[in-house]
Amino acid sequence: MSASALFGNYARSALEFDHGEGVWLVTKDGRRFLDCGSGIAVNVVGHSHPHLVEALKLQAEKLWHVSNLHKLPEQERLGARLAEATFADRVFFCNSGAEAMEAAIKTARRFHFDQGNPERFHIVTFEGAFHGRTLGTIAAGGQAKYLEGFGPKAPGFDQVPAGDLEALKSVIGPQTAAIAIEPVQGEGGIREIPTEFLRQLRSLCDDEGILLILDEIQSGVGRTGKLFAHEWAGISPDIMAIAKGIGGGFPMGACLATDAAAAGMVPGTHGTTFGGNPLAMAVGNAVLDVVLADGFLETVRSSGLVFKQKLAGLVDEHPHVFSEVRGSGLMLGIKCAAPVADVVTAARDADLLAVPAGDNVLRILPPLTINEDEIAEAVARLEKAAHALEGRLTLEGAAE
Ligand SMILES: *Cc1c(COP(=O)(O)O)cnc(C)c1O
Repeated sequence: MSASALFGNYARSALEFDHGEGVWLVTKDGRRFLDCGSGIAVNVVGHSHPHLVEALKLQAEKLWHVSNLHKLPEQERLGARLAEATFADRVFFCNSGAEAMEAAIKTARRFHFDQGNPERFHIVTFEGAFHGRTLGTIAAGGQAKYLEGFGPKAPGFDQVPAGDLEALKSVIGPQTAAIAIEPVQGEGGIREIPTEFLRQLRSLCDDEGILLILDEIQSGVGRTGKLFAHEWAGISPDIMAIAKGIGGGFPMGACLATDAAAAGMVPGTHGTTFGGNPLAMAVGNAVLDVVLADGFLETVRSSGLVFKQKLAGLVDEHPHVFSEVRGSGLMLGIKCAAPVADVVTAARDADLLAVPAGDNVLRILPPLTINEDEIAEAVARLEKAAHALEGRLTLEGAAE
């Protein structure tokens, strides 16, 4: 392997992409990969979407950055549109998912501080959660593999098994500020939190004066066929972190909140130099133009059904490779019977990109613009990968 000047924190494939078009990623030598990973649920409208390219180019010729010392009309506009389309009254823009979650945690703690309860700073989170890689969000996620070697875990996070209401009630006390949950665990393996549990969380929070934080960084911006996944449960949070899809590939995140929940975030309490800059806002507004257009989310729902059905057929035919399909909309997962790392590699050899997750799950997160022909092609490529793996399994079996 050639020497690299970069940190060794990623186990990268050797693929180098030159450009992208819709659901396709093309290497320098012209090999075309079907992208069912979307750069980890980011490229919601595909690669090089003309409307996004145009928005970014126009903005680039006008103004890039002025900081949050001044009023930013494009930021006001995107904030107002997000508020209009959701439960939220207030929006804070940042640059990534982890920062959006940090803002959510700080907003919840500051709310209780503002109410004269500075001792209420604990956040309850769930096993299998992923909230980012900052010191605060690894403590929130609570996964040993991400905490190890980085000093003491930041205090104020209590973790319980997902879906366990009794365990949850047992950790809630006068110290509890908020409950934070992903409505669909992404990194955890496309694990959908049951609607009933989300409703129970909402009423528990209401009864106890606790804030509900939703991490929709992966599940949001149309991924499940609603603008946000919690809409399926008919509940709304007090605070929500978003990122990934809202930038369509431009790095950005946001923390959304009700007026009441955001009340403590007065001048000086929080900030970011880059967050919400004109380039990011131009792209974010362009993403919303597409995702909020008539019929877009309906199409995501019907594409998701078609895709899931075809994947279920694939699982039936290849029980030694795949064992179960999960998820909804275009946030799908296949629990694998073979090691997921091998499935990812075999899929890549068949010119299809997908993303591994916890629980031995292969994540299928294509651009939301994927059409039925492309879905059929994706399934054909996964089939090819399954055949290759079965061939290998047979050889291994014969060698034993
Ligand atoms: C990706 C992700 C994050 C972290 O986002 P970054 O942009 O990588 O910091 C947090 N929560 C969830 C649910 C995610 O999927």
